[in-house]
Amino acid sequence: MNGTVLLLIIPVFILLFSALTVLNYENRANYDSMNSNNVISTFKDVKNNIPVITLDVLNESAYEVIEENMTIINSSEYVKEKVQERINKLSYDCDVNCTIKSIASYENDPFYIEVNSTITVQKDNIKHVENISQLVSIEGLPDPLPFTKCDSISHNMTCIEYHHGLVAYLGGVENGSFYENATSPFIIKKCPYEPYETHGSIPVMLDCIQNGYYHKSNDGACYLCRLEGRATCLHQGLETFIISYMLNNGSTIASIDHVIFNDLYEGQPFIINATYALFLDEAHQKKYGIK
Ligand SMILES: [Zn+2]
Ligand SMILES: [Zn+2]
Repeated sequence: MNGTVLLLIIPVFILLFSALTVLNYENRANYDSMNSNNVISTFKDVKNNIPVITLDVLNESAYEVIEENMTIINSSEYVKEKVQERINKLSYDCDVNCTIKSIASYENDPFYIEVNSTITVQKDNIKHVENISQLVSIEGLPDPLPFTKCDSISHNMTCIEYHHGLVAYLGGVENGSFYENATSPFIIKKCPYEPYETHGSIPVMLDCIQNGYYHKSNDGACYLCRLEGRATCLHQGLETFIISYMLNNGSTIASIDHVIFNDLYEGQPFIINATYALFLDEAHQKKYGIK
């Protein structure tokens, strides 16, 4: 009788033991999968935060330049450090290490800033590491460049009003007074009229000017260099028109922003209508299809 009970008890123990092992294994698997979900969702959250924070830091930096009449030295390093500080303040229930490695003008399109970073997220034995590269559009950000060059100019959130500031900046150049009360765009917006030669048609040029669009340019400065007060740089950059309201047939410095704020070469008048005039040099006349 005792022998039979013992014989029955052994398989019961074996069954119980295996059931416990399976349960334990399942708990472990559930725990791992919970951790893994947590790690992945944290990674995604950090990743989604990087472009949002970068855009915000770029905007704040631009307003520092605009409102405090300062320029930023080594803007990509400056922006990178500020983005890193903000990223470090994010808090999660996983271990997160996010290093912003570089912030630079995107070489294929000056309307974007490229952010490179490494994100490491760990929870217990689950770890995820990824190097990522993200593009942040600069459209909608204000243009700090004119504020680094001219005193007593203002903006109404749409355009920059130079009052006498640009004439003063141009000093004694011939017919510099044509830029009395000139205006230029305040917010970066990409010109949709491509190829640029189509600007030779008056309605297109008028719409471009009224909307304050920016164009790709090999000579004009990129957004990060604009924060440093540079009108030209080695990167792919941007250019816009500075509009004159003097409908004079004389010629003066060409109205492209990087010409006014850097090279100072002459342009011929291009009178668009009873309100607006531009002065364009031969190369820019060709670029914008003006004959
Ligand atoms: Zn345009
Ligand atoms: Zn640049």
